[in-house]
Amino acid sequence: HAKTQGLQRLVIFDDEMERTDHSNRKIERSLRESLTTDGHFFVEYQPIVSASDPSKLIRVEALARWRDDSGDIVSPSEFIGIAEVSNLIVPLGWKILDIVCLDLARNPGISASVNVSAIQLMSPSFASSLTTRVLRSGVEPERIELEITETVALQDTEVVVDQVRRLVAAGFSVALDDFGTGYSSVGYIRKIPFSTLKIDKSFAIGGIGGGENEALIEGIVSLSHALGVEVVAEGVERVEDFIKLNQIGCDYIQGFLVGRPTSLEVALDGISKSCLELAMQS
Ligand code: C2E
Ligand code: MG
Ligand code: MG
Ligand code: MG
Repeated sequence: HAKTQGLQRLVIFDDEMERTDHSNRKIERSLRESLTTDGHFFVEYQPIVSASDPSKLIRVEALARWRDDSGDIVSPSEFIGIAEVSNLIVPLGWKILDIVCLDLARNPGISASVNVSAIQLMSPSFASSLTTRVLRSGVEPERIELEITETVALQDTEVVVDQVRRLVAAGFSVALDDFGTGYSSVGYIRKIPFSTLKIDKSFAIGGIGGGENEALIEGIVSLSHALGVEVVAEGVERVEDFIKLNQIGCDYIQGFLVGRPTSLEVALDGISKSCLELAMQS
């Protein structure tokens, strides 16, 4: 009896997998189609501010947005993974980079960070293509930080380390994104010349509280500083967490409290009221 139940469950699971697979293929087709025409992809920007002075904008993070055929905005969590397994992340990545470069060229005082996928970094010509593209747009590489999320794919590739070193030599800086989840390892920090470490938003989203979570953040901050790496806390939603992160010594803050991802114009002068009040107090 138990066996039959197990089998039934297996069959149901299989159906589900088939449905997911079908829907993934649909998204892939639609992505491919959207990439051939203009206007489907755009970028929202989220402010990153100084933890000791919330009115001081450090840079903005560029976040990809997709308007599909029905006009709905699809979130990156639904399409980046599919773009990666289908290699569509390569043309998509160039599209996003071009938009960011145009925006930076129009706004000389601003710096931005751009997410780069491990798949993009696995191409031996990536660093030189990116450098050429950015220079051609008139933007100085020093104004762009590339955010890399550690994955299994990243970990054991000499090509990736080589590409990152070339990018740093060209003037770009590099951030390790989503630290504290997945595959993040300290060994990796030694291999790649990161300027910035971004503590994953899961640490801050529910509130930092005291105890273990806070102790972990403190440890990450002191480890980073010992290595000459600056720290951004992501996902900061509460004033008390902002204050605590500054006390801990975290350098920069990003999160809905400071500002949600939005158009560049709004992001540039749109630091939230609660943050400005915080700035007055400090
Ligand atoms: P990420 O690089 O870690 O970007 C930060 C994500 O956290 C964004 O989600 C942002 O909206 C969200 N976030 C920021 N502050 C808060 C907060 O206070 N609370 C909560 N609940 N969330 C917050 P988004 O825009 O949905 O992007 C998700 C992920 O998709 C990004 O995570 C990044 O890994 C990937 N992604 C986005 N754009 C690109 C891109 O152009 N290229 C690549 N390769 N990946 C991208
Ligand atoms: Mg990021
Ligand atoms: Mg990322
Ligand atoms: Mg992140």
